[in-house]
Amino acid sequence: MATIGFIGLGNMGGPMAANLVKAGHAVTGYDLSQEARAAAADAGCAIGATVIETAEDKDIIVTMLPAGTHVVAVFEEIADVIGSGSLAIECSTVDIPSAQKAHEIAASAGALSVDAPVSGGIMGAINATLTFMAGGTAQALDAATPILETMGAKVVRCGDATAGQAAKVCNNMILAITMIGTAEAFEMGQRLGLTNQALFDVVSTASGQSWSTTTYCPVPGPVPTSPANNDYKPGFAAELMLKDLGLSQDAAKQTGAYTPLGSHARELYKEFCSQGGGNVDFSGIIKMLAETENKG
Ligand code: NAD
Repeated sequence: MATIGFIGLGNMGGPMAANLVKAGHAVTGYDLSQEARAAAADAGCAIGATVIETAEDKDIIVTMLPAGTHVVAVFEEIADVIGSGSLAIECSTVDIPSAQKAHEIAASAGALSVDAPVSGGIMGAINATLTFMAGGTAQALDAATPILETMGAKVVRCGDATAGQAAKVCNNMILAITMIGTAEAFEMGQRLGLTNQALFDVVSTASGQSWSTTTYCPVPGPVPTSPANNDYKPGFAAELMLKDLGLSQDAAKQTGAYTPLGSHARELYKEFCSQGGGNVDFSGIIKMLAETENKG
């Protein structure tokens, strides 16, 4: 059993912390949101009064925050209380320079660290079936693996520090592109007279298959747990997807990679968010597509 400080108890962090509690760890959680703190307390977490109190004297610190600015701010705040010999597991999806900064702060404190962003959505967080993409030294990855396996089903060792984030930006660029493609197809299918169920039954077992159909189908009905059945409540908010597409386009620019579909996906999510879709699940982009007529 480890003592764990868990910072960021939102859609993902809340259930991840709850799974650590279920496994018998002593988890102290913290979030800026009172609602998130209350839910974590219900799940059996102790609640820290501050970020510092949450991180102090812990074997392991886990962070699950919205973006790089939050991660760097939290790591700078806790820098003096990260214990030498402890382990920092940074699970948020962030830009590579912010991930690097978190590693540097942990190293200055004498702690091990991994960047371990996740894939699998809130159902993955609830059911502990997440995939972690992990970067760090072999020693840090060895130390983090049992904890990551408590919160997920698969841990992929991607390489040294920040390699997990590199894999994550590539994965989420694929996710955005497949979600838009899936939403376009279901919307067009309805106009062609297909039922959502019929198209799902074909696509989910045919060559158009992807996670965007089988786990996260953007129309109500075929996948009962998809956000489409819950008025597109996130889930994974469109503003977070827009953030990730910004990260992948930054990476494309830095490396010279040509990513025309990634670039166009970012424009479409920017439009959806500017129309008020930021707090809607990212599969809700189907509503924008449905409301737009093809005049071509
Ligand atoms: P969320 O907004 O639901 O949760 C983030 C939480 O961090 C919020 O509750 C917020 O109050 C808290 N927070 C922000 N600043 C804080 C601070 N200084 N101290 C303490 N708490 C603070 O977001 P989420 O959906 O849980 O996503 C978290 C991360 O995981 C993001 O980087 C996201 O891109 C990534 N991610 C999300 C999903 C998903 O399906 N939701 C999937 C994969 C990865």
